[in-house]
Amino acid sequence: MDHVIVKDVEKTYFNKEENTSFTVFNNINLKIKKGEFLSLLGPSGCGKSTLLNIIAGLDKSTKGMVQVGSKPVNGPGPDRGVVFQEAALMPWLTVLENVMFGLKKKMNKEQAEKKALEYLKLVHLSKFVKSYPHELSGGMKQRVSIARALAMDPEILLMDEPFGALDEQTRSMLHKEVQYIWEQTGKTIIFVTHNIRESVLLSDRIILMGTRPGGIISEFPVNIPRP
Ligand code: ADP
Ligand code: ADP
Repeated sequence: MDHVIVKDVEKTYFNKEENTSFTVFNNINLKIKKGEFLSLLGPSGCGKSTLLNIIAGLDKSTKGMVQVGSKPVNGPGPDRGVVFQEAALMPWLTVLENVMFGLKKKMNKEQAEKKALEYLKLVHLSKFVKSYPHELSGGMKQRVSIARALAMDPEILLMDEPFGALDEQTRSMLHKEVQYIWEQTGKTIIFVTHNIRESVLLSDRIILMGTRPGGIISEFPVNIPRP
């Protein structure tokens, strides 16, 4: 079943003063299956974040449309959780409170706490629920931000270079963590990276993007058996 459909999507920036325009990409067509782990791979500036943000509903395409499930995307929605390069946790809240923050609007405090603890366990942070963000390493902060996104029960997890700011060793650990999460939850994952190794290691399918004229150059399945 197709979970996400991207149809003839174009993104163009118009500069009215100079009467110029810049097309990041056009004619993007993509079908993503439920439970698929997809990488968007390409050099910096090719439009990976732009495409991810359009799917997230955080940015608008100039042409075309994105459909999630059977609904056209018109803005952000609870069906899509986003993890950015920077965790952006609230420094005055504990790890647990950070994950509970969005949940408290949907359920009572006990339920929110139960759910937050469940997802903090999934990312192996049970021992740090009472810690504050400044007491955590960069990798741990990213795990909190993944738990925070997942606790809201999205159908799709969108990740924009989530490990881009981390050292190589931490990255490797988090690769295992993300694989574990994917196996445990069966979520559809769209993962933006400029790191070929990372996309081969993690995903089922790689969408390779390039600059000028911009768009998808090719796509290929990853057939490396994963543990
Ligand atoms: P990537 O994620 O692959 O690094 P981005 O999606 O961040 O690429 O950016 C794609 C292109 O769009 C870049 O060339 C960038 O300079 C351009 N761009 C982004 N925002 C704007 C803007 N507000 N106006 C004009 N160009 C922009
Ligand atoms: P990254 O490469 O980390 O994804 P960028 O450095 O491409 O991010 O973009 C950072 C911010 O600057 C974004 O909000 C983007 O929209 C904006 N931006 C990027 N390129 C341009 C541009 N040519 N004109 C205006 N804004 C831009």
